[in-house]
Amino acid sequence: MFEDLKGKTALVTGASGGLGRHFAQVLARAGAEVAVAGRRARAIEETCVQVRAAGGQARPVILDVTDAAQVAAAFSGGGFDIVINNAGIALDGPALTTTAEDWSRVIDTDLSGVFRVAQAAAQAMVGAGKGGSIVNIASIAGLRVAGNLAAYAAAKAGVVHLTKACALEWARHGIRVNALCPGYIETDLNRAFFASEAGRALIRRVPQRRLGQPSDLDGALLLLASDASSFMTGTEIVADGGHLVSSL
Ligand code: NDP
Repeated sequence: MFEDLKGKTALVTGASGGLGRHFAQVLARAGAEVAVAGRRARAIEETCVQVRAAGGQARPVILDVTDAAQVAAAFSGGGFDIVINNAGIALDGPALTTTAEDWSRVIDTDLSGVFRVAQAAAQAMVGAGKGGSIVNIASIAGLRVAGNLAAYAAAKAGVVHLTKACALEWARHGIRVNALCPGYIETDLNRAFFASEAGRALIRRVPQRRLGQPSDLDGALLLLASDASSFMTGTEIVADGGHLVSSL
C-alpha cells in the first residue's frame, strides 16, 4: 500500500540535488510519474536521467519557487496528485546581524515559496476535482530553536503552521496537507561539516548518535504521499534519530 503510487503524478521542488533528488527517485520507484522541478536545467535533467536509469518516469520542470509566474506555469498543465514542497535554503548567522536582504531571501524561499506552490497545487487539484496530497518539508528547526538559525527556524515554524491552516481549509476538497520534519540528514552540502570536530560533537547530542541518511526519510515520505495516510492531514512527522527529545 505504501509503495504503490502507480498511476499517480508527483511534483518535487528543489529536485536538482540533495533530498529533493532522492525524493524524486523514491516516488518514481514507487510507481509515480515524477515532475522533477528546480532552477538549474542541467541538474534537474541529471535527476531525470538517474530516475529513468532505475526504470522510473521523470520529466524536468524549470521552477524557481520565488517566481510566481514559473509556479503558475508548472501547474498550467492540470496539476499533480502529489506535491513535495522540498525547495529550501539555509542561513547560518546571528539574529543581531542578519540583514534585511538575507531575512527576506530565506522567508521568500522557505515559507512564501511553500505557500506559492501549495496554493497553486491546491487550486489545480480543486479544478480537477480529485484531491491529492501535499507534503511540506519543514525541519526540526521549525519545532525547536538552535543558535544562529533565526530566519530559517522562523520560516520552518511558519511551514508547520501553514501546513495545519491549509489542511483545515482544503480537507473539504479531498486535499491532505502534512509536514515532514527531518533532523540532521547527511547530504553533499553538510558532509564536510559533519566530518569536522564541531560536526561530530553535534552528532553526539543526537540520541541515536548518528546522522540521518536520505533513505531514513523514505517511510515517512511514502506514508504521507500515499493513500496509506488517507486519514492524516495537518500533522507533522519528525524523523530525527530522537534529536528533539535529547536530554536537557
Ligand atoms: P540542498 O541545499 O542540497 O537542496 C536544496 C534544494 O532546494 C536545491 O535543489 C536547490 O536548488 C533548491 N532551491 C533553493 N532555492 C530554490 C528556489 N528559489 N526555487 C527552487 N528550488 C530552490 O538541501 P537539502 O537537500 O539538505 O534540503 C532539502 C530540504 O530539506 C530543504 O527545505 C531543507 O530546509 C530541508 N531540510 C534538510 C535537512 C538536512 O539535514 N539536509 C534537515 C531538515 C530539513 P538549486 O540547485 O537551484 O540551488
